[in-house]
Amino acid sequence: MEKNILTGDRPTGRLHIGHYVGSLKRRVELQNKGDYDNFYIEIADAQALTDNYDNPGRVRENVLEVALDYLACGIDPKKVTIFIQSQVPSLCELTFYYMNLVTLARLERNPTIKEELKMRDFSSSIPTGFLTYPISQAADITGFDATIVPVGDDQLPMIEQTREIVRSFNNIYGETLYEPEAVLPDNSSCFRLVGTDGKAKMSKSLNNCIYLSDEPDVIKSKVMGMYTDPNHLKVEDPGRVEGNTVFTYLEVFAKPEHFKKYLEEYQNLDELKDHYRRGGLGDVKIKRFLNDVLQETLEPIRNRRKELASNIESVYKILEEGTKKANNHCERVLKRVKNAMGINYFDDSKFLEMQKEKFEKEN
Ligand code: ATP
Ligand code: MG
Repeated sequence: MEKNILTGDRPTGRLHIGHYVGSLKRRVELQNKGDYDNFYIEIADAQALTDNYDNPGRVRENVLEVALDYLACGIDPKKVTIFIQSQVPSLCELTFYYMNLVTLARLERNPTIKEELKMRDFSSSIPTGFLTYPISQAADITGFDATIVPVGDDQLPMIEQTREIVRSFNNIYGETLYEPEAVLPDNSSCFRLVGTDGKAKMSKSLNNCIYLSDEPDVIKSKVMGMYTDPNHLKVEDPGRVEGNTVFTYLEVFAKPEHFKKYLEEYQNLDELKDHYRRGGLGDVKIKRFLNDVLQETLEPIRNRRKELASNIESVYKILEEGTKKANNHCERVLKRVKNAMGINYFDDSKFLEMQKEKFEKEN
């Protein structure tokens, strides 16, 4: 059995630091380890249209932006195939057949869908395409025989849905598809990095993001406006670290060398937290530190992104090539699926022979 990895993002905006820690960093590590046969990254434009059907320009404009974010973070197109979902029509065929294996009630029970429906105010009129996107995601994963899917934890219900479809398909039509496993980030704060508003997951749709491409002054103003502890009013007040977004981000991004460079009086994050809890440590100071850390982390990504953007045609070509390769792979899987289902009339010489026999007997 091949070891294939598939993961992806919706081109609804540029990628943010939640994507970076939740999934992109892991992808680059997996790529560099090289322990796989095929590694695909999907720009999920068709899925993005399920809740942006009335705003196709948004999706179209962000396809190359997302590709730039990948490459800027270190994804190497020689090792990883990046492709555009809508340009791989076999995925739609797979989706169509998998739809028979999933009930409406099962789709409505999906916790991520429930959350997203609330967020998008679809509650009274849900587009069918949106409700069924977990099925199309099962096609994305199985269409490349992927068994490893690096994602943030909001995607776990989708992987579970895929596993159910695989089991159900194999039960009915015979062993054909492979069950995937989700690969989550190591640090649980990265599972679902909170937005700068401290309320919900950082999400392109919620305007609470720090983007990988943000300029230094934008990063600074977002950090300085961030949510901390609402009861920490004066410097001398004791403060809460739990649920304090600045500390969550420090947990994710601050490394020992950052303390040495920008905040020498503390050895590490535990010491900084202790001081904040005791009182006597102001929000401005911790925010300035976080700003230094984020500036240092994001500067090389932003610079690489600008360099790549100066030759956008080469990025376009990478997608074109990648999409060709993805089509070849998915067409092979679709053929296997249709064979298993017996809907391969023109590829199966036995079909005509058996039909001939049947009709001869009848006459
Ligand atoms: P949208 O608001 O359009 O849904 P999004 O910001 O949620 O956009 P997606 O393209 O839906 O981004 O998600 C792509 C991948 O990034 C998924 O694997 C998802 O789990 C992960 N991801 C998204 N947001 C975060 C986050 N805040 N923390 C960790 N991982 C995240
Ligand atoms: Mg999302």
